[in-house]
Amino acid sequence: MAQSPLPAPSNTDIKPTAVNSDGLVSYQLYINGEFVAPCKGAAIRSQDPVTGEDWAEIPRGTPDDVDRACQAAKDAFENKAWRGLTASARGALMRKLGDLITENADWLAAVEMKDNGKLIAELGNQMRYMANYYYYYGGLADKIEGATIPTDKPGVLNYTRYEPVGVVACIMPWNSPLPLTSLKLAPALAAGNTVVLKPSEFTSASLLEFVKLVELAGFPKGVVNVVTGYGNEMGNALVSHPHVERIAFTGGPEAGRIINEQAARSMKRVTMELGGKSPNIIFEDADLSKAIKGAVAGIFAASGQTCVAGSRLLLQRSIHDAFLDELDRFLDGVRFGHPSDPETQIAPISTEPQMRKIQDYVQIAINDGARLVRGGKRAVVEGYPNGLFFEPTIFADVDNSMRIAQEEVFGPILAVIPFDDEDHAVAIANDIQFGLAAGIWTENLARGIRMSERVRAGTIWVNNYRSTSTTSPFGGFKMSGIGREGGIAGMMEYLELKSVWLSTGVEIANPFTRR
Ligand code: NAD
Repeated sequence: MAQSPLPAPSNTDIKPTAVNSDGLVSYQLYINGEFVAPCKGAAIRSQDPVTGEDWAEIPRGTPDDVDRACQAAKDAFENKAWRGLTASARGALMRKLGDLITENADWLAAVEMKDNGKLIAELGNQMRYMANYYYYYGGLADKIEGATIPTDKPGVLNYTRYEPVGVVACIMPWNSPLPLTSLKLAPALAAGNTVVLKPSEFTSASLLEFVKLVELAGFPKGVVNVVTGYGNEMGNALVSHPHVERIAFTGGPEAGRIINEQAARSMKRVTMELGGKSPNIIFEDADLSKAIKGAVAGIFAASGQTCVAGSRLLLQRSIHDAFLDELDRFLDGVRFGHPSDPETQIAPISTEPQMRKIQDYVQIAINDGARLVRGGKRAVVEGYPNGLFFEPTIFADVDNSMRIAQEEVFGPILAVIPFDDEDHAVAIANDIQFGLAAGIWTENLARGIRMSERVRAGTIWVNNYRSTSTTSPFGGFKMSGIGREGGIAGMMEYLELKSVWLSTGVEIANPFTRR
């Protein structure tokens, strides 16, 4: 067997994925507890964003594969190997999976890095933290309680119970494959559902490695299934499959709209975690040294490929020029490089199409009259001539009506917009179709609270940016989404509420009238 480009897992119970005669790691679908070939045998090649070379091939699934996976999930949902488990027993399985993630975090980080080129410095922390999703929701599994309801009808006992929804389809993007999967998978399993997971066609490898841990933890066959392939080829089959009762989607607004429309036809429940164009608002009374770092964290961390990117920097006019100069100077020293080097600050863009999209938006911004302050082109990084690196890019003199201020780029491009006072900042911040997140920088606590109440977004950070927690709900207002992930709210998305009426022996006086 040819040498795998992936590190071997330290746990010898985890079998390495085979490498084919072209030297590519060769993945299969994961259905009903088995790795299986797709019905039609076709594959998609995965590119290493640092070298530009193909390193893996993943199955190009078809609607027939989706059908197999949904059937396995439905059978597992009805099978007492899963259905018969108490909530406490499910919680114990989840905690076992959390332990396996902790033990194998470095390996998972290495696979994820190979897949999407994100910094190992960030991925190591993310993978270790990810175990918390399984600990938290595993702990919550046996703590979701119904109620006894004091009704106005005599002679009955009325109580409520929460039940799993059934088969859940989870569809993920490429920017943070395993954490975004876990935000869905952990509460869905804790609630007692079974799942069919569909990762992005660009980054499917890490999930196909991760399911080996699910198997090792001892989840019954068919509870977790993975199908891979193009969204437009097999996504429809998954979204409209009669066995699927809930859809949890993270991705762009366009795909989100299509999926939501399809789901509505069969009344499937949906959670939509979509895009954003978040304002990062800096007042003249902010601690400016912290605010500079907040602006950088907002848009240049992960090369801007995060849904919460603070891609609109709103600067109070009195500090506008000085802040911009300082930000420009701060970026002079950033280090590009291989994502595995802990010193690297800027890793490559994850995919070729994303690189083209970023380049297109630079041109759009210039054509619309924005002023290019820095960047705007591919970065040449020594040793990686084909790497998908892009320079941190700042546009000033942006009007909030320009496309660079209104549309999500999902790359390292910052649109700087001046404002006069609180009312003006609120008006600009809210004049957009999105409402995912916002940053507010001020040393005036009362102003911080006022602004956090007036800006319409699902997450508000005052004097920090990008903080998240397993225990806290996350989601969008407006076009940024429907529903919440994280915290108790995230678990409730995967439960149905049932009301049970138990007669305590009263006669049915007249069967033709309602009690
Ligand atoms: P995308 O919408 O192109 O794809 C996301 C997933 O949907 C992929 O698995 C894709 O194959 C699938 N898909 C596409 N069309 C489909 C269809 N018709 N039916 C079923 N599935 C379909 O998004 P992307 O480019 O992978 O990711 C970037 C986007 O994700 C950005 O807009 C970003 O803001 C968003 N995002 C949101 C959050 C959040 O929590 N709000 C987090 C991360 C990323």
